[in-house]
Amino acid sequence: MSALIADAVDPLIVERLKKMGIRADVKPGISREELLKVVGDYNILIFRGRLKIDKEVIDAGRNLKILARYGVGLDNVDVEYAVKRGISVVNAPNAPARSVAELTIGLMFAVARRIPLLSTKVKAGEWPKGKYVGIELFGKTLGVVGFGRIGKAVAQAARGLGMDILAYDVIDVKDEVEKIGGRQVSLEELLRRSDVISLHVPLTPATYRLLNDERLALVKDGAIIINTSRGEVIDHEALLKHLDRLWGVGLDVLPEEPPRSETLRQLISHEKVVVTPHVGSETFEAMRRLAEELADNIEEVVKR
Ligand code: NAD
Repeated sequence: MSALIADAVDPLIVERLKKMGIRADVKPGISREELLKVVGDYNILIFRGRLKIDKEVIDAGRNLKILARYGVGLDNVDVEYAVKRGISVVNAPNAPARSVAELTIGLMFAVARRIPLLSTKVKAGEWPKGKYVGIELFGKTLGVVGFGRIGKAVAQAARGLGMDILAYDVIDVKDEVEKIGGRQVSLEELLRRSDVISLHVPLTPATYRLLNDERLALVKDGAIIINTSRGEVIDHEALLKHLDRLWGVGLDVLPEEPPRSETLRQLISHEKVVVTPHVGSETFEAMRRLAEELADNIEEVVKR
């Protein structure tokens, strides 16, 4: 069997594939055009969130047996069509949670205390002491939207910081939330009562622009919004409109990566916004765990 690795991954996965008797070609950053030309030669395609694995790519992959997403989100994959074509789709849902949760907490502090802005100013020779008074997270209410692997890890860490926890989810997570001293509530209550709102839902038709103008209007003045899930979960034009009355926003994900549109450029260049380039799972630890978990899941399919 042969595998094409289309994005930057931990080299451990190549070793693991080799042990399974699978030859891997590593072509990180391969263009869509090139992928369409060569994907037909491979049985396994390993990729991250950059490429759209749509009908055209799947049809070009005449010999594909496994689509392996090096990460969690499958929103860039036409899973239904792949399965219809008899192709197994695997991912690594557990590996990145801790790292994404840590980045989420980092963004909360970065926004609350304006750390990147202050750092930039001091590096530029300014000493803006007294000009950017921050806020504490201790004693504030955190609203976690999507109480899954990452949402739960964020809530646990936030409890440790002395925050009160509210959670919204489409499934019953009441017992789990209560175990850490929080409460499962409606989305409306969460938005109205939270000082910090953190998004951890998958991107689906139901979560597309979940935070739209109408819902943002429910958010308290002076609140912080953090998104490390998927950019499309927020209507960014509406977010820009509400930015003045918010304390700030921390974003690891955007609906256009890298951002080019006027609205996104305007939003991310605002003093109140801290932005990172979709690096939630980019730690050595998470990348290694991703390689292990994905290789395990590929092996399970290969052995069937
Ligand atoms: P998960 O599946 O463990 O949890 C998602 C939770 O959201 C579940 O409890 C689910 O019931 C809930 N949910 C689904 N639809 C909902 C809806 N309409 N309303 C409310 N809740 C809903 O997923 P996870 O591993 O915690 O990942 C969460 C998000 O983080 C995903 O969007 C994923 O793509 C993203 N992610 C980002 C990075 C990054 O680099 N920034 C890395 C990994 C994952």
